[in-house]
Amino acid sequence: MLAEAERAWLAANADALDADASVAGEVVPRLAQAGLFGLGVPHEWGGQGGTVWQGIEAIADVAGQSLAAAFTFWGQRAFIEYLLQSPNAALRQRWLPPLLAGTQAGATGLSNAMKYLSGIESLGVIATALPGAAGWRLDGSVPWCTNLRPAGFVAAVAAATTGGGSPLVAALAAGSEGLVRSDDLDLIALRGSNTASLKIDGVRLTPDYVLHEDANVFLPQVRPAFLGLQCGLSIGLARAALETAAQRSGAGRGVLEEPLAVQQAALSSAVEALRNGLEDGRPGSRFHKEPAALFRVRLTLAGIVQQSLLLELQAGGGRAYHRDQPLSFARRWREAAFIPIVTPSVTQLQGALAAQAARQAAA
Ligand SMILES: Cc1cc2nc3c(=O)[nH]c(=O)nc-3n(C[C@H](O)[C@H](O)[C@H](O)COP(=O)(O)OP(=O)(O)OC[C@H]3O[C@@H](n4cnc5c(N)ncnc54)[C@H](O)[C@@H]3O)c2cc1C
Repeated sequence: MLAEAERAWLAANADALDADASVAGEVVPRLAQAGLFGLGVPHEWGGQGGTVWQGIEAIADVAGQSLAAAFTFWGQRAFIEYLLQSPNAALRQRWLPPLLAGTQAGATGLSNAMKYLSGIESLGVIATALPGAAGWRLDGSVPWCTNLRPAGFVAAVAAATTGGGSPLVAALAAGSEGLVRSDDLDLIALRGSNTASLKIDGVRLTPDYVLHEDANVFLPQVRPAFLGLQCGLSIGLARAALETAAQRSGAGRGVLEEPLAVQQAALSSAVEALRNGLEDGRPGSRFHKEPAALFRVRLTLAGIVQQSLLLELQAGGGRAYHRDQPLSFARRWREAAFIPIVTPSVTQLQGALAAQAARQAAA
């Protein structure tokens, strides 16, 4: 799926993408040139067809080389998915071509909204209807958002509406008056992912930029694809770590063979469960009807990533601890620290499953 040229570029630039923003601007155009954003996008909308699964596999492939690039890919592809599932056909027609071509960056600032959906926090953006005009005034902030290219971006955010209406999901374009991107956040890894915060101070939102008028409908609808694409990060990291561990096991490290086989088998069955539950990723799939099953796969994958990294460390031994050895362990260790905290986080999902179990026990 990932051509040799892109794989080589990602491998050569993975440390830079982790450490700084020097090559951050190249990621989206390169992935677009490789045709990766159109995977799972219907032909009639300029994609290569197939299902969201092809997108997940491509993200996994990229994650095996660089998690910063893969998470950037996720932001772009998730935004494309919002357009595919949005009832706003005009917005889709306007933004899909440049997003697929990689001339426009798509970002998803919906962690807050996903936490809102789980009842963890309230929405950080407020939409106030404009008196006597169609549209809203938006105020608030998005504390985290990846793929905010300084050269331009469009970002999805959810906003609570004043007056008791449903919260909406909007697309905010760079350059809108009142929209301010911060400097890149000072992160311990993934520093080449164009991750920053957004300040929203009186941004005017017109109906043509609304992805969906009801976040309570749209968020559960897009969640399987949102989360499924994110699982690509774990799959790619785990595969890479297990492969490296397997290459370095063998003589004197025979005790690692069994745990390696256990993690490889666990990974294969989690991947299968994800693929089967997602079906085509569109409304009606098993994960739409049964989100807890998807949460369990995400949790299983997060556990496999941790175990795989440990095996990579154990197989690499002291060499893995050296900065001057050609091993990717230290970077992958930092990259893997992202997996439990990316929304929906491991603790959030454990909480959601515990609440569901308590409800079932009480019923
Ligand atoms: C490199 C990077 C890139 C990111 N990019 C994006 C992006 O593009 N878009 C985006 O929207 N977000 C992004 N985020 C944010 C990310 O998805 C998480 O939302 C964020 O890291 C967790 O938020 P927090 O630390 O503010 O959690 P807090 O709210 O401070 O919570 C701390 C932890 O407790 C958990 N928690 C809180 N309340 C509960 C509860 N009631 N039950 C169970 N668990 C709970 C949280 O999930 C979290 O794990 C990014 C983060 C990083 C590090």
